[in-house]
Amino acid sequence: MKRTTLALAVLLALTGCGGEDPVGATSTPNAAVVMLAGTAGPAGDTDIGWTTADTVAAKATSKAGGTNTDTAAISVSRAVPTPGVQSLALTQVERVTRLGRLIGALRPAPSRTLPTPPWDLHPNTPATLAEEATYLSELDAASPRVHVVTIGTSALGRPIRAVLVGPPRTRDKIRATNVAMVMGGHHGDEWAGREAIFSHMRDHAAGNDTETIVYLPTVNPDGFLIPDRRLANGIDPNRLWNSTGANQTTNGTAYQPEQQAVRQAILAWHPRLILDTHEYGAPADSTSGILRFDPGTVNPTGTPAGVVSAAGAVLAAMKTAATDAGHTTARYNGSIPDDGATQAWKRGGIPSVFTESPQDASAGLALRRAQQLTTLAAFQTYMRDNAATLASLAAAATWYSGYTPTI
Ligand SMILES: [Zn+2]
Repeated sequence: MKRTTLALAVLLALTGCGGEDPVGATSTPNAAVVMLAGTAGPAGDTDIGWTTADTVAAKATSKAGGTNTDTAAISVSRAVPTPGVQSLALTQVERVTRLGRLIGALRPAPSRTLPTPPWDLHPNTPATLAEEATYLSELDAASPRVHVVTIGTSALGRPIRAVLVGPPRTRDKIRATNVAMVMGGHHGDEWAGREAIFSHMRDHAAGNDTETIVYLPTVNPDGFLIPDRRLANGIDPNRLWNSTGANQTTNGTAYQPEQQAVRQAILAWHPRLILDTHEYGAPADSTSGILRFDPGTVNPTGTPAGVVSAAGAVLAAMKTAATDAGHTTARYNGSIPDDGATQAWKRGGIPSVFTESPQDASAGLALRRAQQLTTLAAFQTYMRDNAATLASLAAAATWYSGYTPTI
């Protein structure tokens, strides 16, 4: 880098013209100039996915250098600024943070040690809620590509979390990029998808893939502890969905807190593709480890044609991957009501599908988790290879368009 360019970069960094994605720029020195030449200023970063742009900068600074001298900066930056009232004058902490961001951007990418998923510590046993909290917190702290957000609270007061993984981005940038959502534990006694998610998010964090995946590993923590598919009050959480993001009741029943958490996550980050992982319990044909898929052809009235097509395509890709990996697959043969979760999201313009791994004696949790990992990988590949199609569909989606989230 030429000295004059570097000086310009330093000037820009100190005067508040920095862009986003500081960590994504750590791999090459020239990337620092690209980063700082961006048009997005601090004011534009207050509407955020990774809480605040300064949080991203602080994390990047502390992780890039390995000398965690900016604890105070992190602490300060955790307070979300009120939009529109930020002072143009930078505080000393902000100056130090921005300078640290620049220095971090000029260093080679550090090798990062990410925490071990609970599964690898005790295979065949699901992670406890305490282990989940610790693991997600450690993952967030270890990687600037990870940000954990509490999106709601269960009926019995347990936190429901979203884990955003990808290059650090503002909320607006997440919405404008390739973003998907993957859910686990919607039914509390269906564990395989949840365990697969814990591992998949770590691998995604460790890589350089540019798409954002919003993971909701445990949608129903109360049901997980019972354990039961239902919420603590006995309501089935994925049978009560309406057609749009605005409606909060179905057939006169108010959205439950767990549903509200999912709804808020969709409204906040506008996923362009959704995978809801499930399991099924011991019907007659579940004795040989058969992985079932959403039929993809059962669509409520009003589902856009492009959404039907995309949902069918991602299902086909996941099914092919499962078959190639040696798993036996079949079509889900249960009823699919119009107010089922994935049905409602499809009707609102978001390609949404589910998988069902088999809970039976011959298919232990390890096999079921492996099935879910296989289909998750295929889901991400589809997402990456069909970014333009998904962007086009998202532009027309009504589920979240025009609705303002409260998180
Ligand atoms: Zn289920």
